[in-house]
Amino acid sequence: MSKSYEAIKNDLAVCNKTAIDLAGEMRCTFPAFNGNRLNLEKHLLKSLAENEDFDAFINYIQNPRKQVEAFIEEKVNEHMSGEHKSKALKILRKNAGNMHEFAYQALFDATNNVKTQRGDIDMWAKEFSSFLKDKLTLESLSCQNFMDINNFEFLKEEIEKGLISIKEELNQLSLDKMKEFRLRPDEILIDQLCNCCWETCPFCAAVCTNTVKDHSPEDHSVPFHRSLAVKGAQYHNSEEMCIEFCTTKVASDGNFYAGKNTTKLIPFKQYRSAGPPYANWSITSDESKLKYWKWFVWQFQEELEDYYALKFTGHGEIPILIKENLVYLLFLKKSDNYVFE
Ligand SMILES: [Zn+2]
Ligand SMILES: [Zn+2]
Repeated sequence: MSKSYEAIKNDLAVCNKTAIDLAGEMRCTFPAFNGNRLNLEKHLLKSLAENEDFDAFINYIQNPRKQVEAFIEEKVNEHMSGEHKSKALKILRKNAGNMHEFAYQALFDATNNVKTQRGDIDMWAKEFSSFLKDKLTLESLSCQNFMDINNFEFLKEEIEKGLISIKEELNQLSLDKMKEFRLRPDEILIDQLCNCCWETCPFCAAVCTNTVKDHSPEDHSVPFHRSLAVKGAQYHNSEEMCIEFCTTKVASDGNFYAGKNTTKLIPFKQYRSAGPPYANWSITSDESKLKYWKWFVWQFQEELEDYYALKFTGHGEIPILIKENLVYLLFLKKSDNYVFE
């Protein structure tokens, strides 16, 4: 009655429960996972800055959701193979042990009930299934092969053997094998943390921080916008990159073209009149210029010039603040309790 691992892995609640428990444990112990998407994004931005990898930044700017999901996946893999591995393995073993005890008890109770009520094999199968609930199916135990047997004791012994073999297989389950589970911890976390709004600011590509996926008619918004150079904005009829922040721009007397093929100038102060997506964004003018994005533009000026085929000259000249930017990067790398500023 031995059941191969391949056959039981998709069926056992113990695998799903372990994935749920691990995801829950990581949400408690990982600072990146114990808040909302905005909090998670701060941790991703810190990691991007630490790695100083321009390609990863561009991937994030163009497809933030994909990059956030990859970050979750990477952190979960680290968790299951690094210093927390034994903790994760303990959860898996504990759930396997609990499942075995539970199934054993269900077998004992079902057999007892049928015996006292002088029931038949059908009743026994129903009782046993209902005791097992969704934790294990009768198929896992292959007991349909015994449906023509009316000797409960024999049946019970056979099922016991089956449970022992399942227990042995479960004990050999490794964390690597969890990647093949129907429910995976990284997928649970992605589901919990990424099910929110992913619209990006049409000027600077900052991601809306609303925790509701579709929140219309409520406007998209974000506490901190970025330098327009992040998205490769340029001054009209020039190769000059625009380095200003959109929060400054929306208070200025300047105008913009809402698209490459339009000749209609829109005043920044009335940016909503450009229609969607501009019309659906609430951008409040302020002077908050995150050091992070100033550092980013300074750090990757050459790469940004190449990528967008524009130049940081004229209006787009970057202030020479070498010391300030180096000190900021050092602060970013050193700080455990990362404050986004
Ligand atoms: Zn913006
Ligand atoms: Zn939104």
